[in-house]
Amino acid sequence: MNYSNDIVREVARRRTFGIISHPDAGKTTLTEKLLMFSGAIQLAGTVKARKSGRHATSDWMEIEKQRGISVASSVMQFEYRDHVVNLLDTPGHQDFSEDTYRVLTAVDSALMVIDAAKGVEEQTIKLLNVCRMRNTPIITFVNKMDRETRDPMELLDELESVLKIECAPVTWPIGMGKNFRGVYHLINDEILLFAAGNDRADQEFQVMKGIDNPELHKMFPDEMAQLKMEVELVQGASHPFDLERFLGGLQTPVFFGSAINNFGVREILNALLDWAPGPRERDATVRSVDPREEKFSGFVFKIQANMDPAHRDRIAFLRVCSGKFERGMKINHLRINRDVKVSNVVTFMASSREQVEEAYAGDIIGLPNHGNMQIGDSFSEGEALQFTGIPYFAPDFFRVARIRNPMKIKQLQKGLQQLGEEGAVQVFKPVNSSDLILGAVGALQFEVVASRLMNEYGVDAVFETASINCARWVTCDDKKIMTDFQNSSAGHQLAIDAAENLAYLATSAVNLRVTQERWPQIVFHETREHA
Ligand code: GDP
Repeated sequence: MNYSNDIVREVARRRTFGIISHPDAGKTTLTEKLLMFSGAIQLAGTVKARKSGRHATSDWMEIEKQRGISVASSVMQFEYRDHVVNLLDTPGHQDFSEDTYRVLTAVDSALMVIDAAKGVEEQTIKLLNVCRMRNTPIITFVNKMDRETRDPMELLDELESVLKIECAPVTWPIGMGKNFRGVYHLINDEILLFAAGNDRADQEFQVMKGIDNPELHKMFPDEMAQLKMEVELVQGASHPFDLERFLGGLQTPVFFGSAINNFGVREILNALLDWAPGPRERDATVRSVDPREEKFSGFVFKIQANMDPAHRDRIAFLRVCSGKFERGMKINHLRINRDVKVSNVVTFMASSREQVEEAYAGDIIGLPNHGNMQIGDSFSEGEALQFTGIPYFAPDFFRVARIRNPMKIKQLQKGLQQLGEEGAVQVFKPVNSSDLILGAVGALQFEVVASRLMNEYGVDAVFETASINCARWVTCDDKKIMTDFQNSSAGHQLAIDAAENLAYLATSAVNLRVTQERWPQIVFHETREHA
């Protein structure tokens, strides 16, 4: 197929990625440093200020302000080395929501940040598993080497055994904590000397060539002897970097550094531009779509409400999958088969909104949503392309929604339906009761939903604990077996979700296992696709 040069060039220079890490590993600090390299922000503290709740330019959701955390993800676009980088932010709080997971379906690669003193943590594992669903290539940054850390060899071991991903160290630390001297670049045979950093983006660290450089051995006799020994060991025991294995999601290049000192950050940004993939083909129900195709297409992966409380607007975040988007163009909203003229599109430069003139595959655009867009919705210039792979995740937390004022039941139902469409929470209706069960992957989602029900729908809802441990969507090829299942005692635990799918609400892990064993032909799914 012949593609236009303009689009081919723009697609090739796009990199769209997200940072995955456990809270406190250094994601915010690193984001800030990455933005500084591009000149997107002049001084450190901008991203941080948002995190700590001192919002200057934008009003975030009420709860976000109260808690001083970022409930909603946002998108930061910046240019570096003639590339356009889209960094998709994910909430750092441990009560994170499905948004966090779903944002990862819109990226082409991920940067995994590990705290060198703590190693692999719970959230890292969860997020990595989501990346694995699409074999997303992952670059690893082991942060905080200026502190007392765990043994780097042991850390690599842990990454490999817990996350089940091959590690290819690209840089290797020389000492740690007070004795942190820098990193050795195994591929370039160069040593980058550590100096406590400041907030300048253009800060240069001294580079010295060669692990056998006599000058280095004179400067740090003990550390260099130790380094030589370690590097021999590492080269013997670990894998050399292999681009194909990285692109297949099988191997992760590992870098060591200190985000707060801006040390080792440029190296990961370069790896992102040089090694990480640009936009790739995306699967739709009818065919896969090449990002260089002339015609525009994309899908909504996130809906964010009330970024501007004065307007009560909702913004649908759309990832462009192909073609060129131009402001004012008409695009077709596949699910409701309606053409929409989009003149009011936005992109997000840190926290300020700017008008988009054009966008290409890999870019994220924000469409004003007047209530008819849902997560997973596809848009195109007319062809019926429904993109796949935008999942709903089985919730881990459950509540029964009740209202104090029974007259407001209609508002409650309407509110929950809309919040459900936005992906703020999942709503299940048990087959044999009139309860409304809410499910979330992070408990904080309930607080967000309660506060939004109050502010936007005037409903004072209480959420009571539900004796549900987990949910699984159920399907079966054999209709008769499905009917038997529905009519069995296990059938009492079935519920219908917002998209009319059947889900089994298990009271405990044991209950789920027993039911699965009893009904081997029924498939219990941990995720489901957009309806
Ligand atoms: P997030 O929760 O992952 O976004 O983590 P932050 O970026 O907020 O960092 C958590 C804490 O670790 C903050 O107090 C940072 O100042 C600190 N921190 C981040 N990077 C480094 C580093 O390289 N060295 C040290 N010593 N502290 C760091």
